[in-house]
Amino acid sequence: MLDCIIRNGLLPGAVECVDLGISAGKFVEIAPHIVAQAEDEFNARGYLLTPPFVDPHFHMDSTLSLGTPRFNESGTLLEGIQIWAELKADLKAEVIKKRALRLLDWSIARGTLAVRTHVDVTDPTLLAVDVLLEVKEEMREWVDIQLVAFPQEGLLRSSQGKDLLVRAVEKGVDVVGGIPHFERTTSHGTESITWLCELAAQKGLQVDMHCDESDDPLSRHIEHLAYEARRTGLGAKVTGSHLTSMHSMDNYYVSKLLPLIAESEIQVICNPLINIHLQGRQDNYPKRRGLTRVPELLGAGVNVALGHDCVMDPWYPMGSHDMLEVAHMGAHCLQMLGNSQLADVFSMVTGRAAQVMQLENYGLEVGKDASFVLLQAKSVSDALRLRPARLAVFRRGLCIAETPEVKAQLHFGRNEGQVDFL
Ligand SMILES: [Zn+2]
Repeated sequence: MLDCIIRNGLLPGAVECVDLGISAGKFVEIAPHIVAQAEDEFNARGYLLTPPFVDPHFHMDSTLSLGTPRFNESGTLLEGIQIWAELKADLKAEVIKKRALRLLDWSIARGTLAVRTHVDVTDPTLLAVDVLLEVKEEMREWVDIQLVAFPQEGLLRSSQGKDLLVRAVEKGVDVVGGIPHFERTTSHGTESITWLCELAAQKGLQVDMHCDESDDPLSRHIEHLAYEARRTGLGAKVTGSHLTSMHSMDNYYVSKLLPLIAESEIQVICNPLINIHLQGRQDNYPKRRGLTRVPELLGAGVNVALGHDCVMDPWYPMGSHDMLEVAHMGAHCLQMLGNSQLADVFSMVTGRAAQVMQLENYGLEVGKDASFVLLQAKSVSDALRLRPARLAVFRRGLCIAETPEVKAQLHFGRNEGQVDFL
């Protein structure tokens, strides 16, 4: 006797529906028709069933703080960092926690069941670190959270930077972060990368750095990050986030850089919503898009994922933590709407993002966690086109969120029917 059978689910890329049998929170059978009995059955009605969405790059300490103490009028990264510094001075634990939990309600409703969040470790009290470690623990049953020790105001800009980062790691933060392009000089950026990679190697942790998030074609910290990933043996445990300067780099230099990145095995995260908004702000026309070179990185064999980065904070005023919005924006701004590219775009907010976070038991396969999202869609391209309702979100065999089917009722002329856009 199984715990549950999901009937008539359409898996990505498939034409025929399947049933999925679940026991003890795992998939135990996936077949055209399961004959075994189950305590419970759930009818997927021929809709698309996908692995949960994964957000590998987020900022949960600043989320939902939009407008406090003021709005970012210039739309630049630097004004955002300034507003965050002003806000940080008066932050209270209860406020950070309330916002983070509210955001996670949204995440789960959207089917985002794993989140890697950076947490600012340049506040001497490390208040946000303590709060988010607590949130991670409280929410463990429903969502996988990884914390990155992120020196938002620079590792080497203050005398306490290194000490605070080490203390955050000792408190139990999972990943070592960095921001080399924000250090005072290029050589300090280089020095920070070496120090942070050595710390991660020594502690057995992953690395995920905000790297070259600028329009400066000469911001080349990614080169040193790739070098250190190889030298320290960290390899795929290192992720470079943003890499927007690659957009503006000289093409000849990129032809040397891409193989270096591939050889180092580091992974890359592009954040389309945020960088299409923040980059190119000093440009007149033409304005650069400022996103890193995703199709070329994929072509070189590098694993690339997409992140949401921000929801309603000093850097970005929009969003509801919907990874399909991220994929939709990415597909357009990266010019990846080719039919064969859509599956890649979808995988960058599911499987490829899970690979960045090194999630275990992820995927629609026998033996893996029975976690999935049922979308009001019939294909992956429908999902990207419509960003449709998440009809059901399952975590380890339990339905933890539902959204009703959305249909428009027509009232004109010959037509009294319903439209679902499929
Ligand atoms: Zn970020």
